[in-house]
Amino acid sequence: MAEQEPPVKKSSLFMKVLLFLTVALLLVLGWVMYQRWQKQKNETPRTTLEPVVFQPLPLGSIKPTGWLLEQLKLQASGLSGHLDEFWPDIEDSGWRGGRAEGWERAPYWLDGVIPLAYLTDDVKMKAKVKRWMDYILQHQAPDGWLGPEQGQPATGSNAPANAPRDPWPQFIILKAMAQYQEASGDSQVIPAMQKSMRSLYYQLDQRPLFNWNFFRWEDLWVSIFWLFDRTKEPWLLDLARKAGNQGYNWTKHFSDLPVKGRSPKWNWEGHVVNNAMGLKTSALLYRYTGENHYKKSASTALEELDKYHGEANGLFSGDECLAGRDPSQGTELCAIVETMFSLENDLSVLGKVEFSDRLEKIAFNALPAAFTPDYWGHQYDELTNQVACGFFRQPVYTTNGPSANLFGLEPQYGCCTANMHQGWPKFASHLWMKTADEGIAAVAYAPSKMEMMVSGSAVKIELTTDYPFGETLTFKVEATKPVDFPLYLRVPGWAKDATLKLPDGKVQKLDAGTFQKIQRRWNGEETVVLNLPMTFRVSRWFQNSVCVERGPLVYSLAIKEQWKDLVAYENQPIGQHKNYQAVLPMSLWNYALDLDLKNPEKSLVFLSRGMKGNPFTLEGAPMQVTVKGKKLAGWGFGEGAAMPPPESPVKSAEPLEDLNLIPYGSTRLRVTEFPLLDR
Ligand SMILES: [Zn+2]
Repeated sequence: MAEQEPPVKKSSLFMKVLLFLTVALLLVLGWVMYQRWQKQKNETPRTTLEPVVFQPLPLGSIKPTGWLLEQLKLQASGLSGHLDEFWPDIEDSGWRGGRAEGWERAPYWLDGVIPLAYLTDDVKMKAKVKRWMDYILQHQAPDGWLGPEQGQPATGSNAPANAPRDPWPQFIILKAMAQYQEASGDSQVIPAMQKSMRSLYYQLDQRPLFNWNFFRWEDLWVSIFWLFDRTKEPWLLDLARKAGNQGYNWTKHFSDLPVKGRSPKWNWEGHVVNNAMGLKTSALLYRYTGENHYKKSASTALEELDKYHGEANGLFSGDECLAGRDPSQGTELCAIVETMFSLENDLSVLGKVEFSDRLEKIAFNALPAAFTPDYWGHQYDELTNQVACGFFRQPVYTTNGPSANLFGLEPQYGCCTANMHQGWPKFASHLWMKTADEGIAAVAYAPSKMEMMVSGSAVKIELTTDYPFGETLTFKVEATKPVDFPLYLRVPGWAKDATLKLPDGKVQKLDAGTFQKIQRRWNGEETVVLNLPMTFRVSRWFQNSVCVERGPLVYSLAIKEQWKDLVAYENQPIGQHKNYQAVLPMSLWNYALDLDLKNPEKSLVFLSRGMKGNPFTLEGAPMQVTVKGKKLAGWGFGEGAAMPPPESPVKSAEPLEDLNLIPYGSTRLRVTEFPLLDR
């Protein structure tokens, strides 16, 4: 007899349905409660901010010396120091009652020129800056609005007039004013910043953030936090809450980048400068919320950009939206300087060595390469593999035009002409920072001096070095009376055999990727010597290409340059005659490298030429690397740029030749990401 199937119990089905409904109800309830909690959290303003790991020093406490001072002086005698004398959008700016652009350009210029004037201690430039700031402070609207109500669009642009009372230019001028206050001590500045933020506080209730200010609210946060750290007024954090809630969600953006390849068309969220600025958001959110996950997401943001758009010069491509990893795609100069400023903020708040390492990589490589050596010309787009800078009618870019790669006054568009000045000066003013335990940290390295009071004693430290063109960093510490404090020295992530020689002559080994603490009683004049031996690394890039790196420097093929004057600047600087310039290659560039990947030092020969003149020029390049390579017939030129490097490894029947690589920052024409020869 067949077994009978048990009858289906009605009650069992009923129980299943009931259980399902209960679980569903609980889920819905949980979701509603979570949303409520989120809403409540977002609507409750904070009353404090998390402390930063490293506190930047007031502008003026750090004095650049050596090669860094020379670069700043060159910058001051180039476009930065003279733009206001002949470029209509500064000379006749709406910010000083003129008829030209009255939106972002003058604030951008001031944001870089204020620290430049004080770091070079240039009397004429400091007087200029004072005249500008006095005008702006004296013309503040009764309700606090700074600058013109409605800025004119850029000179020569067909853009419609900017929206009335667009908050974006306020965000920039507030950053400039904070620096001016630190350096000048002008007592009008803080009240003016308070009034400006008050006007924004009410305006955001009437009209939420939009367009540029919607994507760049984090720059307002930088100034809000600066002011809150000084005045502790709770309403400032309520303003931060409003702007943060209204603005673009950068945390979500960087958790899964919405633009993973070459942007097919212009878009806000893929805009390379927006992304560069957005990189500081996680660090600022950590200060605001105290939530630890933001510490990690600051690093994830960089990793995401590297994964889909990273290039060997430490940047990510964007022309002017994120553009994939092809080293011929280019990066906008505004993105170079804004990434640096974001990293300076990330470093201050979170104190991670990785941010210092990246900051130095960009400062020593990508930044100087974007300028002519006299700083009278700059590029809009800088290419990692840049084998000719010309006016090509069909350029490789998605949205940029044929002039973007030339050197000149305002190739492509004038935003970089206004914004580029902040690169070196802010790097210099962030080299040293104060620590929470009353110590001093050297967070990035370049020749400089600093001065601060520690426990009632005046302390001076001078760093003498050719770094990044040398491996020895000598710190002379002077204390007016004996004083205990820790000195923190950064050991870069690449510095595997770093050593430290203490004042008593003892030498100790250091761990790479850390801040080394030297806690002692400093007395009179004492010296510590940090040695950072640089060894070769071969990094891998687009289509498995290779790049030679050594310490913080990236090495590129030195291509012989021929500079050609093209059209003259429409408005000529006083006493000068300047032209847009093209740079053409006078030597071959399409080589594949022969490298021993396991032991790179076996196939690379290093030669130090010493510091002679400007290190960021072909003739002044302080070091050289010789490597063997072969011509690669199939790798050519198209769309005004080197074609993408063919997928490595590659084969070539050509003979081996000796090739010279020099630091990326010393080149204006270069190959940096090379195909690798099959061995
Ligand atoms: Zn720009």
